[in-house]
Amino acid sequence: MSNATQTLEHPTEKAMSKLDELRAAEFKLLLETYERNPILFERGEGVHLIDENGVRYLDLLSGIGVNALGYAHPAIEKAIAEQSRKLIHLSNLYYHGGQAAVALRLTEATGMDRAFFANTGTEANEAALKLARAYAKLKRSEGVQLGTKFLALENSFHGRTMGSVAATWKDKYREPFDPVMPGVEFVRFNDVDDLKSKFSTEFCAILVEPIQGEGGIRPMSHEFLETARDLTRSTGALLIADEIQSGMGRTGKWCAYQHYGVLPDVTTLAKPLAGGIPLGAMLCTEDAARAIHAGMHGTTFGGGPLACAVALAVIDTIEREHLMDHVTDVGTYFREQLAQLAKKHDAIVDVRGLGLMLAIELDSADLAKTVLAEMMKRKILINRTSEAVLRFLPPFILQNEHADQAVAALDEILTEQPAAHASATPLTGGKKIGQ
Ligand SMILES: *Cc1c(COP(=O)(O)O)cnc(C)c1O
Repeated sequence: MSNATQTLEHPTEKAMSKLDELRAAEFKLLLETYERNPILFERGEGVHLIDENGVRYLDLLSGIGVNALGYAHPAIEKAIAEQSRKLIHLSNLYYHGGQAAVALRLTEATGMDRAFFANTGTEANEAALKLARAYAKLKRSEGVQLGTKFLALENSFHGRTMGSVAATWKDKYREPFDPVMPGVEFVRFNDVDDLKSKFSTEFCAILVEPIQGEGGIRPMSHEFLETARDLTRSTGALLIADEIQSGMGRTGKWCAYQHYGVLPDVTTLAKPLAGGIPLGAMLCTEDAARAIHAGMHGTTFGGGPLACAVALAVIDTIEREHLMDHVTDVGTYFREQLAQLAKKHDAIVDVRGLGLMLAIELDSADLAKTVLAEMMKRKILINRTSEAVLRFLPPFILQNEHADQAVAALDEILTEQPAAHASATPLTGGKKIGQ
């Protein structure tokens, strides 16, 4: 431990704010995984986060798509309070009512048949990858020629564990940890010819995000998703839809693939599933589920009573408050306003997304960094992904006036910064602000 006297002698110590102290402590104590924004949040209310000084921020990121019902939602509060008085954790060796109840709602919502509950997105994807391997083995035992490789897409993001990260596109996530799970090949996004030429019976699954999230809010083309469905059906491989960011109503439907009329064999959900309490789910068809038997897979915490009770409250609230219709309405409005803004500012090169999974692409990463920092000064939180893409994943309870507030701020910033993107010098000191 550090010497207390020595610490107090430090000349700037007295002037240090709570935030500075915390930064110093984290700098010393934590693994250096995150480049946090310099704000200390204490609580949230609706679509707003409130910092240590009581300053309110409009949160258009909602915990990277987790806090779908916003902050301090009474339904979540109530579910946590009530369930915490009964049972928070129960081993998966025993029954509690939560998993079957959530599974019933999720299978009805997604068109899948069975569920496995995990804690996080990456774990839900690991379950999907393991299922695909086990299913291929089962099919081989039934005389079907099916290999063990996975086909994933360029610019994909599936998580940070050794399997999910192997199917994640960016080298910087994979290479420091080589060798990650072998046998993953990548196809160019929306390139049907590339997909057709790379796919074969060597693959046990194709892994897709119907709308790529980290990859820059890129919707898959109908033709591409339909081709992936046809190809997998032709060999018996599984089509896995990662809906961890796009699912649970974010695009105005339970799953983004429902906009395509394509049903995958496996769907993974997580981020907003239990309104901020960690919960992931891997859903699959009856046929795929044949591959898994008792003892093959499991988890200590996954699908615990507290997380399941909150997930039920989230699903009930989405239905009772018609939040998917609301997401469609306010998302359409927001997107139209962004499209208007793009007409006015040449620096906006694209407006993309569906429901409340939206993005604008700017003409340079430097400008995107500047806009992000300027938005933060105006107490609006967004995020930058994929270099020059500004991403909006607000809570489902967002109102048009919040979209107006964001668009007005963007308009002001882009008007004030006409030459910023022409400069080669990063205006934020070259430090990545978001992600
Ligand atoms: C966030 C995300 C994941 C990983 O989820 P974690 O809970 O961080 O493990 C996987 N896939 C997609 C599409 C995501 O957006």
